[in-house]
Amino acid sequence: MSVDASGDRRAELAAGLAAVRARIEAACAACGRDPGELTLVVVTKTYPASDVALLTDLGVHDVGENRDQEAAAKVAALAGTPGAGRLTWHFIGQVQTNKARHVARYADLVHSVDRPALVDALAKGARAAGRRVGCLVQVSLDGDPSRGGTPVEDVPALAGAIAGYPDLELRGVMAVAPLGADPLQAFAVLPRLRDRLRSDHPRAEVISAGMSADLEAAVTVGATHLRVGSAVLGSRSRHG
Ligand SMILES: *Cc1c(COP(=O)(O)O)cnc(C)c1O
Repeated sequence: MSVDASGDRRAELAAGLAAVRARIEAACAACGRDPGELTLVVVTKTYPASDVALLTDLGVHDVGENRDQEAAAKVAALAGTPGAGRLTWHFIGQVQTNKARHVARYADLVHSVDRPALVDALAKGARAAGRRVGCLVQVSLDGDPSRGGTPVEDVPALAGAIAGYPDLELRGVMAVAPLGADPLQAFAVLPRLRDRLRSDHPRAEVISAGMSADLEAAVTVGATHLRVGSAVLGSRSRHG
């Protein structure tokens, strides 16, 4: 990449970030929240490691990926660069059980824990790597598990399974708004689910909800983590 192209991309990313931060601030102002309570996870899937490096330079400390191979390659590419030590890697995609051990080697917070077999495999991987991996229970808000997520009624049992492993840390809940649903209504159940977990597990404070299209609704219901890709990096359909 030439210096000029890199400068253009940096400016593009800076503009995307500024626009998203302005949306978050406006949404917080509208419901009386402090923007400092929110973690913006920039979803870098399909974009190159060079974008992650530029984002780090622009003050981003949380990045999200959804495929093991791609994520691991970016973690390796960033290792040793300035700022890499401050990066938190979020794994936000469905995890095949046979990939879970590998994901546990680099992911700091896995947002998409949705079944007991995955809990067991992540715990084995975390132990083998000598790491403690944060986990969110992904909740299916429409009861259709095809896009990942466990039904609402199974959340406490799955959370208990995570909390039972010393190599994992139960951090809260995550959800994706169902297609076509009103996100404000769909997300409304999340604070209650999180509060129920937090009563036994004080560190289970996270509500991960909200993407480029519906981050305002997530802020309104009390999300702590927003997962935003295209509004920062550009439309994934328009790049190679
Ligand atoms: C891709 C993805 C996002 C980000 O989506 P955008 O619409 O690009 O903001 C958030 N969460 C999950 C689970 C994703 O797969």
